[in-house]
Amino acid sequence: MILSFLPKELQKIEQSNLYRTLKVIENTDGRAIKINGKEYLNFCSNNYLGLANHPEVIKKAKAALDKYGAGAGASRLVSGTLKIHRELEEKLAQFKKREAAIVFSTGYMANLGVISSLLDENDTVIIDRLNHASIVDACRLSKAKLQIYSHCDMEALEKILKRSEKYKKRLIVTDSLFSMDGDLAPLPKIAGLAKKYNAATMIDEAHATGVIETESSGIDVVMGTLSKALGSLGGFVCGSADLINFLRNKAGSFIYTTALPPASCAAALAALEIIGKNPGIVENLRMNSRLLSSRLSFLASHLSPIFPLILGDEKKTIEVSRFLFNNGIYATAIRPPTVPKGQSRLRITLTALHTKEDIECLASLLQQLIPK
Ligand SMILES: *Cc1c(COP(=O)(O)O)cnc(C)c1O
Repeated sequence: MILSFLPKELQKIEQSNLYRTLKVIENTDGRAIKINGKEYLNFCSNNYLGLANHPEVIKKAKAALDKYGAGAGASRLVSGTLKIHRELEEKLAQFKKREAAIVFSTGYMANLGVISSLLDENDTVIIDRLNHASIVDACRLSKAKLQIYSHCDMEALEKILKRSEKYKKRLIVTDSLFSMDGDLAPLPKIAGLAKKYNAATMIDEAHATGVIETESSGIDVVMGTLSKALGSLGGFVCGSADLINFLRNKAGSFIYTTALPPASCAAALAALEIIGKNPGIVENLRMNSRLLSSRLSFLASHLSPIFPLILGDEKKTIEVSRFLFNNGIYATAIRPPTVPKGQSRLRITLTALHTKEDIECLASLLQQLIPK
């Protein structure tokens, strides 16, 4: 039997403390969750602004369900492009100050579609070592030569660019706000190097969207998700009208899949509107981030809501996560291959919904835990 390797493989994963299971959440309001009837503060969601649970977002999603139905019914190029897709794409282009935008079913699929359609085996794609896994998968799919520079190392990037003249096209891709470390890529420097060496640039704003205004003006391709701070589902790409027209014609993950459900579009539209009208929500998140950094000097402070507490060892990380869980706080252990080997961590994320007391509670538990 070809699948007979599975039990052994699973055992191996378990023995390396890398086995993953799903925790089933019975109930959530964005701030707290219920697991097995017990309530926990959730400090590991990407629902940074609590918009997945915002009454106005839910109301608009329900209205779209009533108007258009549960699903879009077809792929975008067949009969799946609803008025609400068009509306969302126009709003996203405005939001990112670009000529045009295109939405995909997920952020993962946006990365796959862009990179694999723009590049082929004559090209090279140059990426930061800590870029998201969907970027790495996209690069492989493209067949372009993959070259990796160490995290935010501009000298290493320049070295690669210098020796990459032989490739027909060169594309530099980076997360703008890094998902597991919460730090920012030096975008103006990357744009400068790209210009000098005649390369194109793409950023992944999955975590920055709605949270942090990045210095993205010199970047050619801006990708983001509707699934994190915007509280919905879906990915998007913003750029020139030519770029977006090209993607509509060539991106496989746009063409060969059913269009984003109308309720998801409506939820994202409502979230964008709320962010535009109430800058106070983002300010709450920032205040919470400042409060936690002021309490925990051992955490790097990045002004982002992502706080990596790097413990290194997998087993230790699981233990710390369990200790927090026993004290009413949910923060999963993040282990390889999500992060590099020896870099297992708790990735603590804050939301605008957390109260001052919630953060003080988290901080005091972490202070007990971490020896000076
Ligand atoms: C989450 C994430 C994605 C994928 O987005 P989804 O909409 O969840 O598929 C892509 N890139 C980065 C950096 C991410 O963190």
